[in-house]
Amino acid sequence: MTSSPGAWPRSAPTIKDMGLISPDWDVLDWKQYTYIPLGTRVAIPNLARGCPFTCSFCSQWKFWRDYRLRDPKAVVDEIEELHERHGVGFFILADEEPTINRKAFIRFCQELIDRGLPDKVKWGINTRVTDIYRDRELLPFYRRAGLVHVSLGTEAAAQMKLDRFHKETKVEENRTAIRLLREADIFVEAQFIVGLDNETPETLEETYCMAWDWQPDLANWAMYTPWPYTPRCSRS
Ligand code: SF4
Repeated sequence: MTSSPGAWPRSAPTIKDMGLISPDWDVLDWKQYTYIPLGTRVAIPNLARGCPFTCSFCSQWKFWRDYRLRDPKAVVDEIEELHERHGVGFFILADEEPTINRKAFIRFCQELIDRGLPDKVKWGINTRVTDIYRDRELLPFYRRAGLVHVSLGTEAAAQMKLDRFHKETKVEENRTAIRLLREADIFVEAQFIVGLDNETPETLEETYCMAWDWQPDLANWAMYTPWPYTPRCSRS
């Protein structure tokens, strides 16, 4: 069978109302789910699915397609229950970009604070540099809500690479977002992608030096790997 890149020959429709589905957390063998840095149980609930951006290396926006948000209060209900029933003391939002809807993310944080959950449950997210840059004034509030770890899609230290990825971010925003998170006492993990076809020992060294200069708490290096349906991948 032949299919053109980007086509979705057998994709099912997405679930539009995320309130209609809920995971059965009781089926897990909770002893196996430990967040080692804090020595506590960990869960990965969902606030939203999908991402409106179209980064060329990423499968997530194609997999989840349209952006859909759950009621933030219902997500906090779920987190409270995870803590009470299963002893969860740390959660990571499974979302591709939980901060894009700023109002909903603020409601989520406020609900956690109102219920006193940050004393008992800490959490982490993956998100975009541009949202951290946009929300610089809100970072102390996010920290009060228990947010202690942000994994940032910095991806590269050269503007040419960011543009090639369709990342819609600037190198300077990467540097600033890392600094802002550190100043807000939030652990920052910077993600980098290396190994593009024009990568050389010199460009690798340059990226490494830039990452060192930015001083994230952790740098995460991913090897660029084309997947089916990526723009440069052809199937026959
Ligand atoms: S912003 Fe993140 S989730 Fe969205 S397309 Fe880019 S890499 Fe993927």
